Amino acid sequence: MFTVNAYAAPSATGGLVPTTIERRDVGDHDVLIEIKYAGICHSDIHTVRGDWGPQTYPLAPGHEIAGIVTGIGAAVTKHAVGDRVGVGCMVNSCGECANCQAGEEQYCLAGNTGTYGAVDRDGTITQGGYSTHVVVAENFVVTIPDGLGLDVAAPLLCAGITTYSPLHHWGAGPGKKVAVVGLGGLGHMAVKIAHAMGAEVTVLSQSLKKLEDGLELGADFFHATSDPATFELLAGSFDLIINTVSAAIDINAYLRLLTLDGALVNVGAPAEPLPVQVFSLIMGRRSFAGSAIGGIRETQEMLNFCAEHGIGAEIEVIPAEKINDAYERVLASDVRYRFVIDAATL
Ligand code: NAP
Ligand code: ZN
Repeated sequence: MFTVNAYAAPSATGGLVPTTIERRDVGDHDVLIEIKYAGICHSDIHTVRGDWGPQTYPLAPGHEIAGIVTGIGAAVTKHAVGDRVGVGCMVNSCGECANCQAGEEQYCLAGNTGTYGAVDRDGTITQGGYSTHVVVAENFVVTIPDGLGLDVAAPLLCAGITTYSPLHHWGAGPGKKVAVVGLGGLGHMAVKIAHAMGAEVTVLSQSLKKLEDGLELGADFFHATSDPATFELLAGSFDLIINTVSAAIDINAYLRLLTLDGALVNVGAPAEPLPVQVFSLIMGRRSFAGSAIGGIRETQEMLNFCAEHGIGAEIEVIPAEKINDAYERVLASDVRYRFVIDAATL
């Protein structure tokens, strides 16, 4: 075991503070990463504040990790010292169940091991990327292609893959009309990726404040959901809607925007339920689905796709002492469009 600097929450209330955490020694199949940047995901905030259930504290969040390999175990073949690498939302899975075998480790039937706040194989609680170093099994470490800066790549490890996976799965591409609800961390990546896939992209945001940004990110259309006319104008028009909103919204109003056989995929994960009226689905053979991050193979595919298309996140790099301010700004929908912690300041 060795000790590294980190920012962690001592409890569900009161914010994050500088501290140290323990990392395990590098095992045969492990990679030691010097973290350079860690993105702030709304899931970090939900988790720290107990929105999704009780946690073990202190808790160092962070599952958008980009850094450099500084050590490898004796049996490691996938990565070498000096490699530019990333770690996302999971650091292990059973490897044997049907879903793991299919490369969908995020849906491991035994439960994947989350990057933070999860019980690791050795019984310890995992600690995330708001820290200077992390030790991760090589199979859960992906390669960040040359040409993608580590700072703009960090958010791809969660926000990027969480939007790429359903866009890919539900066939976003030329001739498809895709709407993205919520222009935050996930939403802005959804716009960039769906646009690069060739789909026609519409942003549905609470107001028109982010209109110019939305169009610059690649959206073709932008509407305010605070205007009831939006829901009349767009009724029955989208093949695919990706809902990234972190709070409960009237999901039926959005389901009615789907065309025949359209699908609304929820990636936003509010603590509250989203009650569906069956008639919103029946009248149009519509689907309401969910999607969690993506598998490791698909995460690498997404990184390669982003490098090929010159896609990184729009970021605001902050020193660690600004983490609590950044949380407040994310909660106020005042993020443009991902906060990224400079790990050198931890
Ligand atoms: P974020 O940066 O805060 O973005 C969420 C956006 O939703 C906001 O920028 C805002 O966009 C909109 N919004 C917020 N509150 C709203 C409200 N009350 N009504 C309507 N719209 C509202 O958050 P994020 O990091 O993108 O994460 C979004 C959600 O996805 C979180 O719940 C997170 O936990 C979840 N998530 C899920 C997965 C997964 O695997 N499924 C992975 C990562 C994150 P506008 O200002 O444009 O309206
Ligand atoms: Zn996340």
